[in-house]
Amino acid sequence: MAVIPSDQHITYQLQFRKCGKPSCSTCRTGQGHGPYWYAYWRQGSRLRSGYIGKVRPAGCKQTAAEKKRKASTAKTKEHTATTAIPALP
Ligand SMILES: [Zn+2]
Repeated sequence: MAVIPSDQHITYQLQFRKCGKPSCSTCRTGQGHGPYWYAYWRQGSRLRSGYIGKVRPAGCKQTAAEKKRKASTAKTKEHTATTAIPALP
């Protein structure tokens, strides 16, 4: 198992995996096992991946809190633009 580096830009993805067992009904009837979190990062010119598990990683950017923060940042910018207009001649 690959060790996920802490000094790299990590992309997290939620994925299903098939075990390949012909007797496995989970893989036969659905997308496979999971979903599980996987980390992807670049090491030189190679793309590396590491298995995380069912728990959402702490550094995952697709959290509700992150989305909320981005939305409030956009709102602040809009407000700044509005207040700047009366200053113009
Ligand atoms: Zn399976």
